[in-house]
Amino acid sequence: MEDVTSAAAAEGAAASAAPELAVRFQNVKYTYDEEGGAFAVNGVTLDIRAGEFVAVLGRNGSGKSTLAKLVNALLRPTEGKVTVFGMDTSDPKKAFDIRKSAGMVFQNPDNQTVASVVEDDVAFGPENIGVPRKEIGERIAYALDAVGMSEFRHATPSRLSGGQKQRIAIAGVLAILPKIMILDESTAMLDPKGRREVMNVVKKLNREQGMTVILITHFMEEALEAERAVVMHRGEVVMDGTPEEIFARADELETYNLALPRAAYICKQLQRAGMPVADAFNAEELAEAICASLQKG
Ligand code: ADP
Ligand code: MG
Repeated sequence: MEDVTSAAAAEGAAASAAPELAVRFQNVKYTYDEEGGAFAVNGVTLDIRAGEFVAVLGRNGSGKSTLAKLVNALLRPTEGKVTVFGMDTSDPKKAFDIRKSAGMVFQNPDNQTVASVVEDDVAFGPENIGVPRKEIGERIAYALDAVGMSEFRHATPSRLSGGQKQRIAIAGVLAILPKIMILDESTAMLDPKGRREVMNVVKKLNREQGMTVILITHFMEEALEAERAVVMHRGEVVMDGTPEEIFARADELETYNLALPRAAYICKQLQRAGMPVADAFNAEELAEAICASLQKG
């Protein structure tokens, strides 16, 4: 208790100088095996500031989903401490508030709709947390507008495209007015158009509403749109920096079985082949770097 109070006081004092902390992991370990087997998350210390857009990368089984579930108190740490806006996820009394603060969107668009009409689906979350009836209509309108799906309010979710379904899933989370949005490979099953739609919505929420975004993805191009990228390997955070910093360390990434964004990979190959091109991470930068190199040569 004292710990929480002094931490809150310290945070208050620092508020004018430093941005508020959304998520704090302090030496967190988690094992699914009660007999004390391998740790799915193995000693993670990580701070995420309010309003930050963080991409989480890592091969299958590296602990990304476990990390996400530790954020919204679906799992509690085996060791160490996780706080969400100062609330300890191990405190059962805080679980409800934490789940309201940190909404999660999952991978499969077809598993996330529960109702036969879009608006009922979006209403499900707020109804569950006891939002008064007359407020729910406003929340549906707000959430559908934020994901650009207002005109589908009375549509049938099963008839929508994958990208539209995921935007409805995002709207369902938005309707509980969370401060953190966690997307766990939410674009993995979508076509390129659907991925683009979801990424545009996520970026807009982050930029215009200051939503803290934790985007778990295996698309390196998506990570480039974040302001920070964290790489997980065997339950540990092994890299943490801007996406450009991370992707500049190509050899290290390779040891974690991760690829570069396509354009960055081509750039690397050109450099290895002896062409003096500057580092580039996306197609536009690569085109510019090649042009500049040719003009010099
Ligand atoms: P990622 O999301 O990066 O693929 P996960 O967090 O799902 O990684 O998994 C991390 C480790 O925990 C893996 O070794 C995985 O097999 C294990 N694991 C994940 N979920 C469970 C579970 N429900 N029961 C037992 N082990 C699990
Ligand atoms: Mg996962």
